[in-house]
Amino acid sequence: INIPTPVNEPVLSYAPGTPERQKLKDALEELKSQQIEVPLIIGGKEVRTGNTAKIACPHDHSIELGQYHKAGPKEVQMAIDAAMAAKPVWESLRWEERSAIFLKAADLLSGPYRFLINAATMLNISKNPFQAEIDSACELIDFLRFNVFFASEIYREQPMYSSKDIWNYVQHRPLEGFVFAVAPFNFTAISGNLPTSPAIMGNTVVWKPASSAVFAPYYFMKLLQEAGLPDGVINFVPGSGSDVGDTILASPDFNGIHFTGSTPVFQSMWKEIGANLAKDHYKTYPRIVGETGGKDFIFAHSSANVAALATAMVRGAFEYQGQKCSAASRTYLPESLKDAVLAEVKNQVSRIKTGDVCDFGNFFNAVIDKGAFKSITEYIDYAKTADDAEIVIGGGYDDSKGWFIEPTLIVTTNPKFKTMEEEIFGPVLTVYCYPDAEYEQTLELCDQTSPFSLTGAVFAQERTAISLALTKLENASGNFYINDKPTGAVVGQQPFGGGRASGTNDKAGSKQNLMRWASVRTIKENF
Ligand code: NAP
Repeated sequence: INIPTPVNEPVLSYAPGTPERQKLKDALEELKSQQIEVPLIIGGKEVRTGNTAKIACPHDHSIELGQYHKAGPKEVQMAIDAAMAAKPVWESLRWEERSAIFLKAADLLSGPYRFLINAATMLNISKNPFQAEIDSACELIDFLRFNVFFASEIYREQPMYSSKDIWNYVQHRPLEGFVFAVAPFNFTAISGNLPTSPAIMGNTVVWKPASSAVFAPYYFMKLLQEAGLPDGVINFVPGSGSDVGDTILASPDFNGIHFTGSTPVFQSMWKEIGANLAKDHYKTYPRIVGETGGKDFIFAHSSANVAALATAMVRGAFEYQGQKCSAASRTYLPESLKDAVLAEVKNQVSRIKTGDVCDFGNFFNAVIDKGAFKSITEYIDYAKTADDAEIVIGGGYDDSKGWFIEPTLIVTTNPKFKTMEEEIFGPVLTVYCYPDAEYEQTLELCDQTSPFSLTGAVFAQERTAISLALTKLENASGNFYINDKPTGAVVGQQPFGGGRASGTNDKAGSKQNLMRWASVRTIKENF
């Protein structure tokens, strides 16, 4: 069947006086007043382990949203068993029947669940209403609808040549074992996409949300159940990374990992998978799909539009406190533009309001937790004492009420300064200024400075400068922007992912990603 290309979910404004603003405020109050106890959901049943952890509110230490139960090896094994038990029925359904569940889930999220899940995202991972809306509503809805559309294209494809005596065709089968979906804290949409895209292709899944971001994923799991997801198809198993990971990777039925998170964690899991493979431990080679860290750049040419560039630096670096894998974290400025650009960036940053997510006027909120606060502020302190760097904006931090760090801009004379090379994952942008005449050499320097290759942007009005950047930086990012900030990829418009240390570049929200969850059988029949 042909299904029409989906339309991206419209973004609600939450402007004063709108009914949606009131609904979101009501949902925030409701979630703050209840003390929820989040269970595991295995084989469709709620499981409580008694080993609990706090559901935190990063911008307000005094608020406790509830507790969640953590899985141990026994519950992880139960989840594996449930996933394997659910496989035969799930994969025997026609793909249209499976897809209907995810399309219904998208409609539930677009409608009654929207405010609840946005509010849970805001409170638990400290996102302002706009950042929550583009994440846990629009992007997640888009993932569901576009992935169903991509699946429809895959199942329709029959590229083989057939003649009157021979019939050739392919079947897109699910993988033989189960898939492990491992999510980062920073996007509810990513967390929800990681288990659902393999499931659309007929796989069953064990889903581990990030420990600091269990709240909104739990409500999404409930939504999937309400949409008709059969028991055991996706098993929701919060718990510590290594506790859950070790049991999963030890299972002979482990057949794929859909991971998003940091580069070191992905590398350590890959090594463990490799060691198990060397012992012939798995029934079949696992699919390894991972989107990992970034050190994303904005590269300005002397012909760049100063106002657009400054806005891209501020939004690219400081939206959601810089905790996007795609966040701009290093900028290359030609010396001729330095004063004008930095003045405009300072002007814009001075207008940023910071604080609680429940005050909708705040653009800027807290970083996720104590560990992030410590590691980000260590980078800031390092820059404070370095001879070859200067903090020109921000640099302050305060953990008395929540994990607050000021939007911070460092200017360095050293293109290989620590904060030009390493992922910080916080609101810190480092600027290196280069002589205008050294544009080409500095492009090469940008390419060679960091091991990552996730997103990047060039700002230039001259076409030759854009062309040179496209060529010299061709391996420096999986998503490249011309005269735009390097964040904000939209499902169905800019498939997302990168190479080098940034991942396997299997482009979240694309047909290519869904194909990784299919095992293709080719059939030839002679007549
Ligand atoms: P993280 O610390 O790597 O954690 C990611 C997930 O891995 C969490 O669920 C974590 O569990 C789990 N984990 C940790 N150790 C594990 C193990 N041994 N076995 C199995 N799972 C394990 O990353 P994060 O801090 O949540 O997210 C930030 C990172 O994600 C940044 O590096 C960012 O660039 C990257 N990211 C990349 C993309 C992309 O598309 N490229 C998108 C978003 C984020 P716990 O939470 O329990 O530790």
